[in-house]
Amino acid sequence: MRTLVLEMGQLWNQPGWDGEVHCDMINPDKRSMWFKNRTEAPVDGVLFLDLANRPIQRYAGVLDRVNYGDMGVYLGRGVGGGSLVNGGMAVVPDRAYFEQVLPQVDAAEMYSRFFPLANRVLRVNHIPQPYFEGSEYYRFSRLSRTVAGRAGYGTTFVPNVYSFDYMAREERGEVPKSALATEVMYGNNHGKVSLDKSYLADAVGTGNVTIAPLHQVVRIEPEGTGYALTVREITPDGELVAEKRLTCGHLFLGAGSLGTTELLLRARDTGALPALSAEIGESWGPNGNVMIARGNHLTEPTGFQQSSIPVLAITADDVLAEIAPVPAGIETYVSLYLAITKNPERGRFVYDAAADKAVLQWTRAQAAPGLEAAKAVFDRINDANGTTYRYDVFGSRRAFADDFCYHPLGGCVLGRATDVYGRVKGYRNLYVTDGSLIPGSLGVNPFVTITALAERNAARVLAEDFTS
Ligand SMILES: Cc1cc2nc3c(=O)[nH]c(=O)nc-3n(C[C@H](O)[C@H](O)[C@H](O)COP(=O)(O)OP(=O)(O)OC[C@H]3O[C@@H](n4cnc5c(N)ncnc54)[C@H](O)[C@@H]3O)c2cc1C
Repeated sequence: MRTLVLEMGQLWNQPGWDGEVHCDMINPDKRSMWFKNRTEAPVDGVLFLDLANRPIQRYAGVLDRVNYGDMGVYLGRGVGGGSLVNGGMAVVPDRAYFEQVLPQVDAAEMYSRFFPLANRVLRVNHIPQPYFEGSEYYRFSRLSRTVAGRAGYGTTFVPNVYSFDYMAREERGEVPKSALATEVMYGNNHGKVSLDKSYLADAVGTGNVTIAPLHQVVRIEPEGTGYALTVREITPDGELVAEKRLTCGHLFLGAGSLGTTELLLRARDTGALPALSAEIGESWGPNGNVMIARGNHLTEPTGFQQSSIPVLAITADDVLAEIAPVPAGIETYVSLYLAITKNPERGRFVYDAAADKAVLQWTRAQAAPGLEAAKAVFDRINDANGTTYRYDVFGSRRAFADDFCYHPLGGCVLGRATDVYGRVKGYRNLYVTDGSLIPGSLGVNPFVTITALAERNAARVLAEDFTS
């Protein structure tokens, strides 16, 4: 089927001034962030030195942080979306929790057919144990396993879409370094199979799919049995090239929890698509994300060389705490964790007509259940090891960061704002395919589930909606 993919970010395939497509985390430049004056990495420094964040030129960089009062949401911008900037952790959720979160979905079919399919196409692989145990670049993970073990907690390996074969060759000096050269959050130049190299490459390979980068959809209206879109094309420096009107028979929204929800809220509340459900905007959550920094004893260094790809997580009741790197290039003795908690609090998006934007209603107090769950785990780890938190990592002298997330979920929830296959209620030939379908929490990193759900919904929609 002839398909046009509209993406507001860049197609990341052109080398910059240094011969690389992406910049690393230690020396970020304009390629790092989406139209910011200064980088906004979550780790703001160590020992109160501003190691991480610095002024940059405004540009269509690859990572965005959208700030709404008490919650900042990190997003990927570019052909491949979040897969360009994410940690690549490819985790299938615990089945019982998946059934609780999405009871309308046939879990047996998901676990036997669509999760394996998504894992295959995404090219998920596992770190070989001998490599993990022997590599200097995973000293930080092994140390966190030891300190968690002293508190009675176990750990589990986390699969990834970064090629561990490539990583081993990086360490042997056979290929250019990427994960082992502090690349991840502003993109990986090598090693990672992001969506532009898997699903989107396959799609373009059919000859039926065209991708239009730097094209932002701003408005959707009905047109015949399909839709008309108002689209703004910009240059990488942000200048308007053209405003276009494009039409289509079927419209699939994959702009993510924030993007899809905003487009539909705007369409409903400006009267362009007035029959959209009152459920649009509801049931948003940050997947219970909390980041934690703790310090280790001087006799237990974390290593100054750290792989940017996390591969191990601490498992506790209702908390999965991924052991994240601090690739500062110096010994910091800091252990960093991304805890995914099952915080049941939900926010909502509302349309602000004056600003023509969706605004998130989420308060700091709503983060508290996630924070308490994470704190219980790390208090116990600190007690068992005689260690303490580190207050010099996130800025504002906090050891926990519960005011940002990497995993925005919800806003157009499956079975509520859409039918159980992502068809938007109130209109025909209009679909949602992204993380907005999942109501706020999943217990694990979400991209494999988003992919598997998209596979499931597409299979049904192709069979039923494209018959004539
Ligand atoms: C730093 C970071 C680390 C992460 N690590 C992991 C991890 O290890 N494992 C994991 O599972 N998840 C991880 N995630 C989360 C994961 O990347 C997201 O859950 C996932 O990418 C969401 O997929 P999506 O399809 O819902 O939306 P997205 O991936 O956000 O894709 C939406 C795309 O639509 C574009 N867009 C938005 N609005 C418009 C518009 N109006 N017009 C045109 N284009 C538009 C965006 O630019 C974007 O490219 C991480 C995220 C971040 C930011």
